[in-house]
Amino acid sequence: MSDRLARNSIDGGKIIYSLDTGKLIDLKFPSFWFENSPQGKFVLNIAFSQSKYYIDNLSENVKRGMKHKVRIGVWPVQAPLGYLNDKLTKTIVVDPVRHKLIKKCFEMFATGKHSFTSVSDYLFKLDIKSRSNKKIKVDTIKRMLSNRFYLGILNYKGELHKGIHKPIISKTLFEAVQKVISRFERPRYNGHDFPFIGLARCGECGGAITAESHSRKYKNGNSPTFTYYRCTKKFGVCHQKYISEINLAKQLRKSVRNITIPSEWKETWLKLLEQDKITESVKATENTALTETELQTTEIKLSKLLDTYLDGVVNEEDYKNKKNQLFNTKLNLQEKIEQIKTNGNNWLEPLEHFIMSAFQAQKIAAEKNELQNLSNFARSACSNFFLTDQHLQFSYNLGYSTLHSICGSPHPATSQSEKSKRVLPADFSFKVNSPLVTSPPK
Ligand SMILES: [Zn+2]
Repeated sequence: MSDRLARNSIDGGKIIYSLDTGKLIDLKFPSFWFENSPQGKFVLNIAFSQSKYYIDNLSENVKRGMKHKVRIGVWPVQAPLGYLNDKLTKTIVVDPVRHKLIKKCFEMFATGKHSFTSVSDYLFKLDIKSRSNKKIKVDTIKRMLSNRFYLGILNYKGELHKGIHKPIISKTLFEAVQKVISRFERPRYNGHDFPFIGLARCGECGGAITAESHSRKYKNGNSPTFTYYRCTKKFGVCHQKYISEINLAKQLRKSVRNITIPSEWKETWLKLLEQDKITESVKATENTALTETELQTTEIKLSKLLDTYLDGVVNEEDYKNKKNQLFNTKLNLQEKIEQIKTNGNNWLEPLEHFIMSAFQAQKIAAEKNELQNLSNFARSACSNFFLTDQHLQFSYNLGYSTLHSICGSPHPATSQSEKSKRVLPADFSFKVNSPLVTSPPK
């Protein structure tokens, strides 16, 4: 009883003061009766101080309990959407229905065709609402889509821990979503989305390129919007004129078309890739052993770090920083091992990704209304963009530059039939030191 008598010492003091001044005559509780007398007040005082002691203890215990839970990988507070707090086992379990919806949200968002709002709308239609029965706020959706909890990682007060709950999102999907989110974080001006902003710099003065949209009203009532890109001229005098978005897109499309793998090569390339995968799986076994040793070393470092923290040698902030650093290393190593185990290699995957995206280039260049896709692809395949006299210059990235020299049309007049005659050299293969391989192993 005394535990709940007064929530804090001020309440307790107030009650005793009210008794002193006669505002309160006596107190009756279901199992406790108090009489307004010096002796009674004394008993009450004891009851209150015990109550305070209990509460102080309780919050200390709760804090300690939470920390302990996190250490053993259990989320101590309310489970995020897609999970449930299992009261019986005091752990976090996967919500059998909602986790599918969360996964769907990640998949939708990864396509790049959705906004935070459309994800919220989607959930609202499925009767997943905020506590106030409204659509879930955009910020909450954003936080949900960047929550590493879905990967099985706990972030408790800035400290990372490996959770024991089942991840519901794959690392690949999660990272694809993070990429889209970072795209949303690019500047938008006056509510307009400018897909090519931040892509190029001015070729004359090196200034940043900005964008603006204008609507023109025609007599027939139409008012189409025109978008222009131009030098900010922040570095002083610059003679460059603006370039229309249409012109810029046209030039980019042409450049992207030049790094398209001829479709008749696709089969051969994928076959070569398959063969390499088999060879590599043998090497992978050796790689795993090495990585596992590295992982053990990291585990030892983590354990030593905890000792130094417990001994008071390092302060909490340094401990947290260093621990998170080691924790991330550990995660990366664990992922690497997983990756080697499932894929049998760690350099063919980027190559495969590269080949698949190069196959996409043709499609991306053909999509008239998907300027954001065009921009994203150009950013991944090329760099050092400069705009001079409305002409876009750039260099192809490693891999793509080779592709350009093999597949790029040598002459603009090259007809489709001539293009299809391009044959793959008979001894063509992907080697670890092939210029096509963007990230060879050490
Ligand atoms: Zn300029």
